[in-house]
Amino acid sequence: MYKYSKRSLDKLSECAEPLKILANEVIKRSEIDFGIICGHRSDEEQLIKFNSGLSKARPGKSGHNKKPSKALDIGVYVKGVYQNWDTKEEIVLYKKVNDLFYSVAKEFNINLKKPLSWDLGHIELA
Ligand SMILES: [Zn+2]
Repeated sequence: MYKYSKRSLDKLSECAEPLKILANEVIKRSEIDFGIICGHRSDEEQLIKFNSGLSKARPGKSGHNKKPSKALDIGVYVKGVYQNWDTKEEIVLYKKVNDLFYSVAKEFNINLKKPLSWDLGHIELA
């Protein structure tokens, strides 16, 4: 069983209660190692993401900009190494963790926004 690092727990602490419950359950069940790489994001950080094309949301408009955060981002690790989105195999790993978030959310009656096909690392409350 995998568990979150201190850094992931710090990021998770910035998130709304349902996301904490959800993420704490998913890590227990996941066969893939992953961490929480983003919880809350300030408007300044959002502007940088938006301008660089990494987010489609303007400052203030992302679930990450809420306090507590309505969104979290996961990063997948293989043998402790962070995986990007560069290969089909890596995308499959993200898809599996994303699917697990959605199935556990359903079980716990936590409403999530529809998954973003272009950002499977992003999990957001509806
Ligand atoms: Zn996100």
